[in-house]
Amino acid sequence: MTVLGTRGLRKEYGRGEGLVRAVDDIDLDVAAGETVAIMGPSGCGKSTLLHLLGGLDRPGGGSVWLGGRRIDDLGERALARLRRDEIGFVFQSFHLMEELTAVENVELSALLAGRSPRAARRRALELLDRVGLAERAAFLPSALSGGQRQRVAVARALTNQPAVVLADEPTGNLDSAATLDVLRLFDSLHEAGQTLVVVTHDARIAATADRLISMRDGAFVDETRLTGGTTGDLGALVGLDD
Ligand code: ADP
Ligand code: MG
Repeated sequence: MTVLGTRGLRKEYGRGEGLVRAVDDIDLDVAAGETVAIMGPSGCGKSTLLHLLGGLDRPGGGSVWLGGRRIDDLGERALARLRRDEIGFVFQSFHLMEELTAVENVELSALLAGRSPRAARRRALELLDRVGLAERAAFLPSALSGGQRQRVAVARALTNQPAVVLADEPTGNLDSAATLDVLRLFDSLHEAGQTLVVVTHDARIAATADRLISMRDGAFVDETRLTGGTTGDLGALVGLDD
């Protein structure tokens, strides 16, 4: 079953000589529970594509479908609700609220979605535990390492049980050890059946996907179906078995 899809998706910037086809006629189908990795050089349109997939930006042409429903033509309010309730975003630079603690960052998403303060707190603590940060719940982001911040961001993305998690170079700002932590976390989400689209420069993340898509100049140029890695394979691959 397709959870997330596009047909003839396009986004252009500028005009005339300066015209950039950031996303150029992309058809994509992401199946339920599938992890899709997207790789490609800087500027090839990966972030633009993710923004279109998640309703953060409007296409110039074509369509985006989530759970069988067309979403690119929704009104602003419906789109905001959809981003809040059905999509989890993870960004390279974490995008946490610096003045809120880890648990407050996560519970904010639940509160915005209309949960009671108690239920929101319970959900946030449960997710921080799941990402291995139960003991850091009361810490401000500034007191956390990069890898820990990104794990808080992943917990936040999962708060409302999104149909799909979209991650844009989630390990791009992390050192090698933190990268491996986040990698394992994504792998556990994958194992748990979370549908995931991850843009990455990291071959180790790509290796855990079900499918690897290469992008160039706004288009998909190659697609490889992988066996679907596990952390075990991953450890062997990067020589970091624990
Ligand atoms: P990637 O994430 O693969 O590095 P992007 O999606 O950020 O690529 O960018 C794709 C292309 O679109 C690039 O040429 C970039 O300069 C251009 N681009 C992206 N966003 C904008 C924007 N808001 N205005 C103008 N050009 C943009
Ligand atoms: Mg990008």
